[in-house]
Amino acid sequence: MLDCRPFRLRDHATMQDDTFHDAITERDPAIASSCDPATGLSSDPATGLSSDPATGLSSDPATGLSSDPATGRPRPPRREFKARGSFVTRCKGCHLPALNCLCPYRVRAESRARVWLLTHPLEHHKPTNTGRLIGDVLPATEVFTWYRTAPDARLLALLDDERYAPFVIFPDDQPDYADRVVGMESVTEHRQGGRIPVFIILDGTWRQARRIFRKSPYLDRLPVLPLATERRTRYRLRKPASAAHLCTAEVAIELLRQAGDATAAEVLDDYFDAFNDSYAASRGHEKLEAPTAAMRRLLERAHR
Ligand SMILES: [Zn+2]
Repeated sequence: MLDCRPFRLRDHATMQDDTFHDAITERDPAIASSCDPATGLSSDPATGLSSDPATGLSSDPATGLSSDPATGRPRPPRREFKARGSFVTRCKGCHLPALNCLCPYRVRAESRARVWLLTHPLEHHKPTNTGRLIGDVLPATEVFTWYRTAPDARLLALLDDERYAPFVIFPDDQPDYADRVVGMESVTEHRQGGRIPVFIILDGTWRQARRIFRKSPYLDRLPVLPLATERRTRYRLRKPASAAHLCTAEVAIELLRQAGDATAAEVLDDYFDAFNDSYAASRGHEKLEAPTAAMRRLLERAHR
């Protein structure tokens, strides 16, 4: 594994320089697991992107172009690209392998609190990203792509909108922002005061999330809400560093639950389980014989 360079550069053409630098310096253990020892190529079976450890070149199978990380200029392909997962047929609705499509289980719910995702560019196109599940269940969810030097104008406007009471979800383990740390009671107070509580979840690997938190001056004035939960992750599609590390959808589920949006939390939790089980089965080229308990609950809600 050590010779793998599991970075992905799909977005490099639009990324700022330092993000690009991140892309070639950050290693994501989740991606590292998909390194093919036979070819030495690391690739994400779902996106089919790969990078060559020998040259540090990345290539996009859609265009067949590789690019030089020093100049960012495209280079002609050196050989035909073949990655595991390239030939998987995906459902156009849910983007999951069509073998176990998630669409029948998509149920909408109402919540008093909202979720805004600030998503790292490298996370956006990963089909294993669970952030999008939140928007499937809660249509008012907003998704912003994070670029360090180009903050999203719409996000900035929403942060100034008095209707909302935004909270950045982040651990409270560093002293330099201790004065900004609040508890769930602050969410309740704002809601009772007539404002809509908003959970801003930094969507990326732990390292990416920390970078977003530290390098986004517009977040500096917002209260920081750490998620306190005993939940252990049930996410099966990437190996977490610890069972206490929740994926993005799980963070939203626990926040909604604690904020009193019990039904929204239940629906999202079932939808998350359905996603996990469907995706994991498809990875094993296996069709689920019957709906799981979570799937049956979702079907029941869908037909109410
Ligand atoms: Zn589908």
